[in-house]
Amino acid sequence: MKKLIIAIDGPVGSGKSTVARRVAEMLGYIYVDTGAMYRALALKARPKGMVLDSDDDLARMAADTHIDLRNENGAQRIYLDGLDVTSAIRGPEVSQAASKIAVIPGVRRVLVAEQRRVGQLGGVVMEGRDIGTIVFPDADLKIYLTASAEVRAERRWREHQQKGDSINLERTIEEVRDRDRRDIERENSPLKRAEDAVLVDSTAMEAEEVARLIVLLAQEKQAKS
Ligand code: C5P
Repeated sequence: MKKLIIAIDGPVGSGKSTVARRVAEMLGYIYVDTGAMYRALALKARPKGMVLDSDDDLARMAADTHIDLRNENGAQRIYLDGLDVTSAIRGPEVSQAASKIAVIPGVRRVLVAEQRRVGQLGGVVMEGRDIGTIVFPDADLKIYLTASAEVRAERRWREHQQKGDSINLERTIEEVRDRDRRDIERENSPLKRAEDAVLVDSTAMEAEEVARLIVLLAQEKQAKS
């Protein structure tokens, strides 16, 4: 059976990660969280105070960095130059820094090349902002996942609470709004629905329901191929 490339794009808090991970599990595919790559780079840039500095420096840094997404006991772990940064990249400050670094064309070029290398053989569920538009415009199945802004902010806030981050709901709403704006308005690879992407609104849906729907769509594609 053909091993598909499944692209899932959408804004912050749309449920992409949970859904993509579950779809990959159900199909026996690899799961690639491309946001984690932007986050890892942002983490590396931050201590050097480079985030708002030269774009060329950041692009060079991206080219000199080794980011590895490994599946260990069913969970994805992220290694930055050999160091496990899985938890370190999840804080609200890294979220903001990642969305700033993601507007730089030279940085995107490096990460997109790596994403294509990882996914080219198929059997992959890749999630991000530009997977169906730029990384794999010929993906076998494209999903654009969204939800109302309130529900997305609340989901993100709950995640922070569970991790013990003290960020309040109001600040989370601002954070989500800032990142959405940057993702949608940037010139290079803005967040947008690919014309041939299936639009799924998860406002009133459980992640499991969304995942099952995507698996059905994938099986339909496989039956036709
Ligand atoms: O998906 P996540 O929220 O972890 O991504 C962190 C940031 O990385 C996003 O706010 C977005 O700006 C950027 N990103 C991107 N393109 C991708 C994945 C993430 O620009 N494919």
